[in-house]
Amino acid sequence: MKPSPSSSLPRICVLGSLNIDLVSYVPHHPEPGETLTSSSFAVSPGGKGANQAVACAKLSRSHPSQSQQNDASSSSSSSSSSQPATTAAHVSMVGAVGADSYGELLRTNLSAHGVDVSGVLVAPELKTGIAIILVDEPTGQNRIVLSPEANHQVFGGSSSSDSNNAAVPSELPPSTPDLLIMQLEIPLQTVLLALEAAKQRGVDVLLNPAPAVVLPEEVYAGLAHLVVNETEAAILSGLPVATLDTAEGCGQAAEWFLARGVSTVIITLGGRGVYFKTASAGAGQSQASENHGLVPAEQVSAVVDTTAAGDTFVGQYALEVVSRGANGFSVEAAVKKANKAAARTVERKGASDSIPWRDELV
Ligand code: ADP
Repeated sequence: MKPSPSSSLPRICVLGSLNIDLVSYVPHHPEPGETLTSSSFAVSPGGKGANQAVACAKLSRSHPSQSQQNDASSSSSSSSSSQPATTAAHVSMVGAVGADSYGELLRTNLSAHGVDVSGVLVAPELKTGIAIILVDEPTGQNRIVLSPEANHQVFGGSSSSDSNNAAVPSELPPSTPDLLIMQLEIPLQTVLLALEAAKQRGVDVLLNPAPAVVLPEEVYAGLAHLVVNETEAAILSGLPVATLDTAEGCGQAAEWFLARGVSTVIITLGGRGVYFKTASAGAGQSQASENHGLVPAEQVSAVVDTTAAGDTFVGQYALEVVSRGANGFSVEAAVKKANKAAARTVERKGASDSIPWRDELV
């Protein structure tokens, strides 16, 4: 399915990773040389990029069964029937998979949620990215081995001589979305090129720099939205992670990013909530900020699995950004809605499956 973009819909483009998660649930993490039998195993679509695209798409529409009832009288044309009338944004994904069954699974899953996958390259000679995940059942702790494969070998990856490599970066983003979302599970070079292209075209960027690596300072200049968790905030800013234990410390970290040109800094703090701070004037100013605060996390019935909670947060926040109305955009209101969406994800097992549809946020 390829959703037909409506000119009236805001457009979100996610440039990032697509991985298949191979998850084994084990009674304990194996010692060197130990062979363990898992209690269960799951294969599921993942990757921060794909998860965030699914989050944007799911959170922008009602559950399909719900919308089918609502849309019963709408057109029966084959291309529009899979695009519920309640859709609030056109979401597209740019990335790469191999020409294997995992790549097909990822593309199908994105399409099934209404994401336009025409920008997902199928590289015939490459493998799809894989995350091997061992979940220690008693504690819920993960150990993860990531094999980026196609994610790292196209769009400027250093290790491939693939002929697709050279052409793509200069064309990023492929169209002019209202918001470009990126993470760091693809080559940094690709992210930097896309940032530059977005700046030249006046496209707002939301950067979720995970997994965190120290970034060149130019990244921050003119960046509209930076969404980081506390560990990432510490790594990127060079401040001790304990600094993020207090609202004052979060403010200090946020100032570090604002001083380098970020317009809005969002620091997610798990069950503690979210700290936000925005620049008071034009990007690049180091002057005092006027808009900041700590928004408490939503109550959850139980913390079942935090996988994709951060991705859900990004998806809902992005939707709030692109659907800003005549009254403008309130960061605090957007954070509250994003907290609400992420809380639903925390209550369920899985990655993209655990992300709520829009009508589940009551
Ligand atoms: P990441 O998963 O990227 O490390 P966080 O752990 O900060 O990010 O979680 C992202 C968001 O998920 C939080 O800002 C919050 O909205 C929600 N969240 C995470 N843990 C909880 C929790 N225990 N209770 C309620 N919401 C949570």
